[in-house]
Parts: sequence; C-alpha cells; structure tokens
Amino acid sequence: MEPPVADGRRGIVCRSRGREVCLDPPGRVGSGLAFVSHAHADHLPASGTAAVSSEGTRRLAGARDVEIRGAEGSGLEMVDAGHILGSRGALFDDVFYTGDICTRTRAFMRGARVPRCRTLITETTFGIPSFSFPPPAEVARRVNGIIASAFERGRPVVLLGYQLGKAQLITHMFGHWAPLYAHDSIRAINGVYEEMGVRMPQTVGHSEAEARGLLARGPWVMVAPMGAGAFASGLRRRHRAVTVAFSGWAGSGHAAERRGADYVVPLSDHCDFGELVGMVVASGAETVYTTHGYASEFSAHLLSMGIDARPVPRAAP
Ligand SMILES: [Zn+2]
Repeated sequence: MEPPVADGRRGIVCRSRGREVCLDPPGRVGSGLAFVSHAHADHLPASGTAAVSSEGTRRLAGARDVEIRGAEGSGLEMVDAGHILGSRGALFDDVFYTGDICTRTRAFMRGARVPRCRTLITETTFGIPSFSFPPPAEVARRVNGIIASAFERGRPVVLLGYQLGKAQLITHMFGHWAPLYAHDSIRAINGVYEEMGVRMPQTVGHSEAEARGLLARGPWVMVAPMGAGAFASGLRRRHRAVTVAFSGWAGSGHAAERRGADYVVPLSDHCDFGELVGMVVASGAETVYTTHGYASEFSAHLLSMGIDARPVPRAAP
C-alpha cells in the first residue's frame, strides 16, 4: 500500500490494490469507498454520504440528523473498536484502521481485540506516558463514595459526560442510585442503545422531573451532557448539586478537563498510553501511522522501540 494521506475533505485516504478507501471523510469522497468508524460528530460525514458503517453507527448518526447510506464494501471487514456503541475499525488489504478505540472493558462495553496487520493506522488521543487510566471499578468506587456522602448531606449529584457514549456508560455504572434522572438529550440516545440490545437503567427525563417538581425533593442523581455548562451550573445554584465530570483529561491540566465541575474523575472511551503501545505490539504491524492528539509524540516513542512509525502525512494542497 502507498502511504495514506490526510485530506481535509476525504478523510484519511488509502490507495491500495487499485482503489481508494477514504476513512472517516468529513465531506464528499468522489470515487473512493468511504468508511465511517463511529457516530461522534468529528467522525461523521456529510448527510447523505454512501459509506460502509455498522448498523449502530447508522442509527446513532440518524438520531443526530446525519443519514449514512449503505455502500458495498467488498474486502473491507469491520472489527469492534470498543469505543462507543457501533464503533468499528476497518481491516482491508493487511491494513487496520482503528477509528477511535478502547481496549479496556467498561461496564457493558467490551474492550477491543486488535487484529494482526502489516500497516496500522491508529488514533493517539492520549499518546503520551502521563495518561494512565485506573480500572473502571476503581473509578466507580470513588464516585459511589462521593454520591453517598452527598446524599448524607441531602445534596443531589450531577454526573457529567459526553452525550454519546460516556453518558450511557455512566448511566449504566450508577444506575443503582435512585431517583435517577437524565437530561432529555441523553435519554434519546439511551433509547437507541436499548434498540440495539443494551439494557439501560430506567431514567426520568430532566424536563419531566422539573415539571413535576421532583428536583426540589431530596437528593437525586442526574446524568447530564458535559457541554451543557449553564445547565449544570443552574442545578448547582438552585439545588446545591455536587457535580462530577468523567473525562480522560482528568488531572492533566488540559483545558478540556475541568469545565466547572466539583470533581473530575478519569474515565475514558479511548486507550491510554500503555494500552496504545500494547495494541500496536499485539497487531504485529511493521509500519504505524498515527492521527489525532499526540500523533508526533507517540510515533517518536514507537521509533524508540524500533517500530517504523510516523503521523499520517497531509495531502499536498
Ligand atoms: Zn469518538
């Protein structure tokens, strides 16, 4: 295979065996075969794009008003990437593209098992050694302690995470607390997870809880989207809610980390540094291309291990 190139419109373009495979294209791909790894906004194509993707990705994209039309993906095999519902990597012509990937099992999400390949194209969001995530059970213990102590003081708790993926994990991990509320936008996505066979704890939507005056009554737990800062600070002000954010950036000092939360705990849907290294070794890849986050730092680390690696080069303008 020729080296892949990152093209602003066509995604990561691989020319191999007389065809082009366009990985996670943001725009129109023209003649190439498009592959969409998962339904996070930064990986979704323009609505109406024909692409190979999983049923879960198609449904979740549809819930966000992006239509992915089916495409004939002969010779392209999808491999579970363990990142969010429906996330897949693509295996073709001895190349494996991870999309966003997590090899750690969290609640109902099984960690990815990486296939053997000659060329690996991997995300490196957390590709420096300071990112080392604790086991999810340890995170759950800590947060259960935070909730228990808030409840003893009669204070409710808001659990904050990305609307798609993280919020469903959190709902699952802390679904034993009652009453359990969820932001309406998260409940809508929970519904897609249920349609796809994931048993989600039952929640009451925030609008209904507000309309029925439930939030004024005693401590409760609510799952809310990370981005809705004004919503969470309103709950803090009106109900003295304790806020807990779940993020891989916890403790990193990164701008994305804090977002006004009382606590930030490390729970990520990506591999940490050690897991990325383990994945590369398990794949047996001879050449590794890195993308997203610490792409230069991680490829430099692989070179120091004797593995040929570099960031995916940009296409010539
Ligand atoms: Zn993602």
